[in-house]
Amino acid sequence: MDKILSLCKRRGFIFQSSEIYGGLANTWDYGPLGAELKRNVKNLWWKSVIQERMDMVGLDCAILMHPQVWKASGHVDGFTDPLVDCKECKSRYRTDHLTATPDPNIKICPSCNSKIDLRVSVPRLFNLMMKTSLGPVEDAGSITYLRPETAQGIFVNFLNILDTTRKKLPFGVAQIGKAFRNEITPGNSTFRTREFEQMEIEYFVKPEEDERWYKSWIEERFNWYINYGIKKENLRIRPHEKDELAHYAKACSDIEYNFPFGWSELEGIANRADFDLKQHEQFSGKEMLYFDSQENKKIRPHIIEPSGGVDRATLAFLVDAYHEEKVKEETRVVLKFSKELAPIKAAILPLLKNRPQLVGVAKDIAEDLMKDIRVVYDDTAAIGKLYRRQDEVGTLYCVTVDVQSLEDSKVTVRDRDTMLQERVEISGLKEYLLDKLKSE
Ligand code: ATP
Repeated sequence: MDKILSLCKRRGFIFQSSEIYGGLANTWDYGPLGAELKRNVKNLWWKSVIQERMDMVGLDCAILMHPQVWKASGHVDGFTDPLVDCKECKSRYRTDHLTATPDPNIKICPSCNSKIDLRVSVPRLFNLMMKTSLGPVEDAGSITYLRPETAQGIFVNFLNILDTTRKKLPFGVAQIGKAFRNEITPGNSTFRTREFEQMEIEYFVKPEEDERWYKSWIEERFNWYINYGIKKENLRIRPHEKDELAHYAKACSDIEYNFPFGWSELEGIANRADFDLKQHEQFSGKEMLYFDSQENKKIRPHIIEPSGGVDRATLAFLVDAYHEEKVKEETRVVLKFSKELAPIKAAILPLLKNRPQLVGVAKDIAEDLMKDIRVVYDDTAAIGKLYRRQDEVGTLYCVTVDVQSLEDSKVTVRDRDTMLQERVEISGLKEYLLDKLKSE
């Protein structure tokens, strides 16, 4: 993990937030390459859950919502984590993050390994929602929250979506957006932060079809990670135990990734039954029902919720892409991103930067390609170093312009993974690259 994080810093994937002021703990910024990677993750998710499906639509809701939303959803009363302080080292932990022992009352502090007796250090409940105040006067009436999940925006728009899209069951609504939680123990870089991005789907089904759709979404979402490069052996599905289930959930399974710090959740898929629509119906007084024209009656749909984290998915793709290879006694570090995820598809490199003619040809090529393909131009080092740099950030192809290019109008294209080189006509280069970049 340290190696990957140092690469992320060195090459501009992830920076600490407000670094020149000493940094803000557990808060991160995505650098130029991280921003590209994260955007690709979001676009691929949007493509697979909306663009490629007739039964899905997208949504983009405000972060701020009516405070009643959070009463109806159960977050004001119940979005709490039990918090325990270690008496020895003063570390603060979520009770379920302490190391278990055979005695359920005794846990071990992960920081200092001392015993924590839960009968003595009784866990306190801590609400994770971040409060803020709207308007110039800060009083009880102005308090609202930064949303702790994007899902509620979808539930409260259920009737708007029905009215405007005329969708028939089963159908789903998806959105990507920021969420905020005052986590007790953030950490492991972008894995657990207090500000993060979610990609969530609420899939509305006839009550009797919920189990079928629950299974189908688990499979669909599991395969999405595999399709874009995660190795199958590093991914698993973990169904929740009965005592782990949230009170509203009929069933829930996590998709977990084998991070260097252990198996951890990337995404949860829950069968929420009709809990959410029922709650909002009660609190808003609006009937949250769907008219089933076949059966000629109103029903309250059940909901399957695949809820993933953009930052966690991005981190997992980064970790899985990291490879070290021995090449002629040297270690080559390469991020083997899938074609779709690679932040940069091709780098255009002149072999000699002090030959204006070479530089001119290389820049012309880059300018032509950048209209259709995400490419960069780089002439700031010798070619060996430029290759290493591009390998380290997962660039798929390096296009080198050399002296010969001025005579035969061809360039050398080097493949990131095989390192094989091919001479390609400049006039056919764009087509060549576009063809290579096509998804299989
Ligand atoms: P955890 O048990 O790890 O706290 P959770 O089960 O509370 O997560 P959900 O409420 O199901 O998480 O949120 C859905 C998804 O949002 C998670 O699978 C994760 O990818 C992402 N997510 C949740 N909390 C965070 C966080 N603090 N930082 C980054 N991503 C998060």
